[in-house]
Amino acid sequence: MDARLLAIRDEVFRRNPGEIEFHQAVNEVFESLAPITGKHPEYADAAILQRICEPERQIIFRVPWVDDAGSVQINRGFRVEFNSALGPYKGGLRFHPSVYLGIIKFLGFEQIFKNALTGMPIGGGKGGSDFDPRGKSDGEVMRFCQSFMTELYRHIGEYTDVPAGDIGVGGREIGYLFGQYKRITNRYESGVLTGKGIGWGGSLVRPEATGFGAVLFAQEMLKTRGLSLEGQRVVVSGSGNVAINAIAKAQALGATVVSASDSGGYVVDEAGIDVELLRQIKEVERGRISEYAERRGSSVSYVAGGSVWDVHATVALPCATQNELDDKHAARLVESGLIAVAEGANMPCTAEATAILQEAGVLFGPGKAANAGGVATSALEMQQNASRDAWSFEHTEQRLTEIMVGIHHDCAATAEEYGMPGNYVAGANISGFKKVADAMLALGV
Ligand code: GLU
Repeated sequence: MDARLLAIRDEVFRRNPGEIEFHQAVNEVFESLAPITGKHPEYADAAILQRICEPERQIIFRVPWVDDAGSVQINRGFRVEFNSALGPYKGGLRFHPSVYLGIIKFLGFEQIFKNALTGMPIGGGKGGSDFDPRGKSDGEVMRFCQSFMTELYRHIGEYTDVPAGDIGVGGREIGYLFGQYKRITNRYESGVLTGKGIGWGGSLVRPEATGFGAVLFAQEMLKTRGLSLEGQRVVVSGSGNVAINAIAKAQALGATVVSASDSGGYVVDEAGIDVELLRQIKEVERGRISEYAERRGSSVSYVAGGSVWDVHATVALPCATQNELDDKHAARLVESGLIAVAEGANMPCTAEATAILQEAGVLFGPGKAANAGGVATSALEMQQNASRDAWSFEHTEQRLTEIMVGIHHDCAATAEEYGMPGNYVAGANISGFKKVADAMLALGV
């Protein structure tokens, strides 16, 4: 990073004290941008970097709700509307106790470039709450979602800001949020949220899209070395929507996925994860991964605590959460023959881990490219809503595949153009940045 970039970065850090995940995400992008700042003085003249790091709008609000015992509970809600140069703000809502402004800003910042890479007309935003849906009744989740939307509705709209799901926000929560939006506004404005149910404005393939897309990205990376997923030993972390669909797709393409995890521990199933059993436990019963081992039988081991990244893999798909895979895990995985990593989660590898993997020549697909299939399919949902249409599974999956192959090609070609062949981190950051920067230049200060 040159002195000018460093000074801008340090000013961003100073203005956003303590937001360590946001700093990490900014730093990673800046590290990739040195080769283009010299070539594009017009970006510096228009202070594009400084402007891109400052959200257009940040909303923080109180979310009061009543629990089943009749007590009033308070949570904090966030929506960071980061950048609208390419389209309405677009990005998920995360409900998790770890949520604070720094997490939402890191996610929103990543979302700007991810959304640009999809080639769809969507800006970047993110939101959420420190509400913990775990252990809450259905009624509590509904009342929380209604209260959250009672404030959020005034800030969003199909041409303004279009939230979706993320950790802790799935089809059930989107339903309650959409129901409250409809009730308050008296508008059936389907395009205001994505991830809706199939019977009421949702898109086929949206639930599968992030996991499927990450596997398609891994497949494209492997192809550049004459390889495929066939016969690979795949380790997946997580057991939410992204992980489950990544497992299903990887196995459909001939890999053996041997693991899944949750915050309590991980399972290793050498025969290959039984996706239907996993879906039943995690999606239908909202249970724990330990139950998978109990019900699947003796061939499966369950490790309480610990990290799934202690398990040997040729392909790793981190689909749980940020900074789950660190330098020690990376070094061990490299030693035991890792070939490729595609990030299904947002920033699951630490900066140190990413450096180790890249230096060892591991194919490394960063989240903003590899997991863009989810938000890309959200944009396809918006298209269907705008035209009051509903596409078939085959057509939608075909569009998703084209988009993922396109993102892979774009990242690879950009890395090549700037003299870093095979560096998907640089390719994704430079290409995503240029698309947004050029639009910002065109739109003026
Ligand atoms: N939360 C997802 C992501 O990180 C999807 C966002 C969306 O569909 O708007 O990209």
